[in-house]
Amino acid sequence: MNQDFIKAGKIASQAREYGRSLIKENASVLEIAEKIEAKIRSLGGELSFPCDVSINFIAAHDSPKIKDERTLKKGDIVKIDLGAQVNGCVTDTACTVEVNSTKHKDLIKASEEALDNAIKLFTPRTKVCEIGKVIETTIKKYNLSPIRNLAGHGVGVYEIHTGINIPNYDNNNQTVLEKGMVFACEPFTTYGDGIVMDGKNSEVYSLEDPGKPIRDSGSREVLKYIKEKYKTLPFSKRDLSKKFNILKLTLALNNLEREGIIQQYNILVERSKGLVAQTEHTIIVDEKPVVVTK
Ligand code: MN
Ligand code: MN
Repeated sequence: MNQDFIKAGKIASQAREYGRSLIKENASVLEIAEKIEAKIRSLGGELSFPCDVSINFIAAHDSPKIKDERTLKKGDIVKIDLGAQVNGCVTDTACTVEVNSTKHKDLIKASEEALDNAIKLFTPRTKVCEIGKVIETTIKKYNLSPIRNLAGHGVGVYEIHTGINIPNYDNNNQTVLEKGMVFACEPFTTYGDGIVMDGKNSEVYSLEDPGKPIRDSGSREVLKYIKEKYKTLPFSKRDLSKKFNILKLTLALNNLEREGIIQQYNILVERSKGLVAQTEHTIIVDEKPVVVTK
């Protein structure tokens, strides 16, 4: 299993660096996400979740939509967040790039440094709160705030959140790490309050109650495909639109959402509209931590 995490991590890392090279003034956010996802698949992986391209005070979960016309502008703070999985072994990684400017160098550097400092603690017997404390201390040294209601998370086989969170501040959680556990760690930095709230719909979904019966045959067909292709992992309307007619797909997704069979994520925005940076790696807990997305 660890071999699959390591293989998936290598793919995610290559896709991230490729994605980083695409972040330029006037680049299309839709093209960036599509190219990153195609890269993951061409390297022999599948997606852990749809690629996000979250800009400025949008902290996370902004995956370009079908026909998204947004382009990057000089000075934008762009976070690409992506994941590759092999045989279900989920990896998750992110980086932040400032478009054609260095005005917010420290915002990005603080999240990178917080992650570097945190990685050293992914050893057996570390308490979860100790990692949060190191992240918080590193970020505050730069007079910035961590985002308190976004956290890293355990990952597993076809599991993007195992239930154990890695906080970006000292939350006093005494849970102890064990050898072999796999985590995504993702310090977020901001000039703002350090709290995110729900924004608009993302057109990214997860299965909520996949066993619930659905009468409409078109919806049933789409649901069957979702379960086969993505198993229990998040998926986008954009990716599904390559398989299904858009009218049929829209109807089916609306139906499935209304019935509570699938659930749509919201885009997450920083409450005070502070700019946000994020850096993320997937790490296997060991005496010497293994960063699989390095
Ligand atoms: Mn991520
Ligand atoms: Mn994550």
